[in-house]
Amino acid sequence: MTAEVVKNLKSAVCFLMAASCLSFIISCADAGESGTPADAGDKAEPSSTAEVALEFSGANALTFVYEQLAMGPRTSKDARQIKLRDRLAEKLKALGFTVEIQPLAGTGGMGAGVNFYNVIATLDSPVNTKYRIFGAHYDTIPIAPNDPDISKRGTPIDGANDGASGVAVLMELARVVSAKKAALKHSIKLIFFDGEDFYTGTDNMFYGSRYFAGKLSKADIATIEYFILLDMIGDADLNIYQDINSLNAYPALTTKIFAAAERLGLKGFYASPKYQIIDDHIPFINAGVPSAVLIDFDFPYWHTISDTGDKVSAASLEQCGKLVEYLVFEN
Ligand SMILES: [Zn+2]
Repeated sequence: MTAEVVKNLKSAVCFLMAASCLSFIISCADAGESGTPADAGDKAEPSSTAEVALEFSGANALTFVYEQLAMGPRTSKDARQIKLRDRLAEKLKALGFTVEIQPLAGTGGMGAGVNFYNVIATLDSPVNTKYRIFGAHYDTIPIAPNDPDISKRGTPIDGANDGASGVAVLMELARVVSAKKAALKHSIKLIFFDGEDFYTGTDNMFYGSRYFAGKLSKADIATIEYFILLDMIGDADLNIYQDINSLNAYPALTTKIFAAAERLGLKGFYASPKYQIIDDHIPFINAGVPSAVLIDFDFPYWHTISDTGDKVSAASLEQCGKLVEYLVFEN
């Protein structure tokens, strides 16, 4: 399946009822399932996490989900989202990260000319200068196109899972990494993307990630070990499958991530492909960066006004958080 077909699929999905669109994507995924991860190959040996205990707290992450929800919907350009941007930067600086707020003007689609801001936090390891990059989007969609109540579809959503969950996991990861800095053997970047959910339709999405990945030079790309995107990873009923696009582009990375989830006994992770996801990882794949997305697309409240705090759990946030903490510190 080509990327273009998938793009059209996802944008079509946004205008359909949740139930029918999910079955549409599932049937698409089924067609691609022949591409199972046979070639984990080069990274087959078990990796260890250098006697560092996992300290990620799902309760802390949930607190930060609610901190974001208390701000209201965080749509791009909105003052509340700018407040979140500045709060992220401030907290990350306090944790010892070097923080850059990367401004960009949107290109193409409905976000053309709109001012967006990525927040990029870096912690360099003296031992290894190659970056393990983790990302999430911090904006929320300004409408609720999948809401079963047609009269609610123009309402901005809380985005507890779609937006706040990924941000919360990265922020708790930042705290843990900062506390265990001495054990860090790899340089880390955390990127908070703007404009992922600017509107429906792929021409109106992914502004921050497209800009960031599009600016990477060959030399920049050579400094990146991998990029892992977190999106919608807080659902209390957690079901994270392998993304077919990640698997097709960089099978060894997705295989390694799900092998780590299995090693950690994480029950919400399933080492089999299901959906073909277009998200902020695609610009990185297109730029030649080994990339994967962790996403729970079995979320019935996706792009509805019911994507609220009660749908997200500390236990689910902790599963994803412990996994990324493990990945940060593994050799
Ligand atoms: Zn979304």
